[in-house]
Amino acid sequence: MAVQRGMVIIGAGECGGRAALALRDLGFDGPVTLVGDEPHLPYERPPLSKDAMVSDAPEIKAIASDEMLAGRSIRHIHSVQAVAIDRAAHVVRLSDGSALPYDKLLLATGSTPRKLPMPGLGARCVYLRTFNDALAIRAHLSAGNRIAIVGGGFIGLELAAAARKLGAAVTVIEAQPRILMRGVPAEIAQVIHAAHEAEGVKILCGEGIAAVADEDAEVRITLAGGQDIVADLVVIGIGAVPVTGLAAEAGLAIDNGIAVDDELRTSDPDIFAAGDCCSFPLAVYGGRRVRLEAWRNAQEQGPLAAKNMLGAGESHAAVPWFWSDQYGLTLQISGLSDEGRSIVRRDLDDGAFILFHLADDGRLVAASGIGPGNAVARDVRLAEMLVAKRAKPAPEALGSQMVKLKSLLAA
Ligand SMILES: Cc1cc2nc3c(=O)[nH]c(=O)nc-3n(C[C@H](O)[C@H](O)[C@H](O)COP(=O)(O)OP(=O)(O)OC[C@H]3O[C@@H](n4cnc5c(N)ncnc54)[C@H](O)[C@@H]3O)c2cc1C
Repeated sequence: MAVQRGMVIIGAGECGGRAALALRDLGFDGPVTLVGDEPHLPYERPPLSKDAMVSDAPEIKAIASDEMLAGRSIRHIHSVQAVAIDRAAHVVRLSDGSALPYDKLLLATGSTPRKLPMPGLGARCVYLRTFNDALAIRAHLSAGNRIAIVGGGFIGLELAAAARKLGAAVTVIEAQPRILMRGVPAEIAQVIHAAHEAEGVKILCGEGIAAVADEDAEVRITLAGGQDIVADLVVIGIGAVPVTGLAAEAGLAIDNGIAVDDELRTSDPDIFAAGDCCSFPLAVYGGRRVRLEAWRNAQEQGPLAAKNMLGAGESHAAVPWFWSDQYGLTLQISGLSDEGRSIVRRDLDDGAFILFHLADDGRLVAASGIGPGNAVARDVRLAEMLVAKRAKPAPEALGSQMVKLKSLLAA
């Protein structure tokens, strides 16, 4: 491949950082430029609502050090935004006025918190996405402080667990009838709900917000039912939206994210997209288009995009996988649990259990498990392999602790 201008990656997060490293691992020796609008090295976000949030001195968990990037001749431009793509000229324009020519471009722009569309939100109403957001929130998490979390999703609940550990009083306000409505079976959500209540978190479900007043030294949230919640800090965690503005303005196809094919190529053959910002067809679900906000997906798609930028022509074939840690519990989900119609339960030791989701034709499409520590990790991993194989294991075998999942794989 005759490369003149090199590879440019927009977004120096999990996916972009991994893609840049992979280009070198794959032997590409032309210019590689990684552009990020944050001031940091590419870093992991999952610790932000977990370990980093309870640490006295939160630190960035970087994906690559300055030395590693320099040693691999990866140019990292930080604190600068890509503002336009001139597709005809193969040039990206940056917020500092400079321009970067590219042969192939990867958009790894991630996602950004969905904003609560309400008047009255002030400086004490915040979102959690970046390390700097985490530092700002961490400063408020101390014994006696009152934290209101809007949204009973993963980030809000992990943050609630961290805040309790630090002694803050926590109220979670969820508009839906239960927490974790999206993609988590009710049986598992109940376990998490109970764990939070046992730790002293107040969870209010089915509660809309009528008004927010961020005044004086506190925030007053008035619920639709009339109740007032008063807090020193409000963290809003109501989901995320893909960052697609740059791609849309460049005329690339958008469909719940930057639309890519199974090789992560956008509607422009020289531009790829990967990670939280893109939607892609998932082979194992008959090409259903999905967008995932998951660490492992970003970690896998970055290197896959790098391969395909170099012409490998490899399809994305992975089964989705997600995890969350709250208190001593770990939840893991592999596959798309919303596809399953019937559910089979397998009880493990220590109160841990796994739910297997089966499609109408008997195919295993997902497994969701919860338990202390690593209790469900191995079985969820084996279930993931069964999903990838499009296996149709007997429900009785799935439900029985006596039958090893590994034996079903061999069948
Ligand atoms: C607090 C938190 C906890 C999480 N916990 C878990 C977990 O437990 N399990 C799990 O599976 N997943 C978790 N995730 C999700 C996981 O971190 C994301 O799926 C992953 O970070 C996505 O990687 P990405 O590279 O696609 O996007 P990001 O990590 O968001 O990186 C995108 C980067 O691009 C930058 N950018 C955007 N537009 C531009 C532009 N025009 N110019 C320059 N730079 C730009 C952004 O500022 C950002 O730095 C968590 C996320 C958060 C925020």
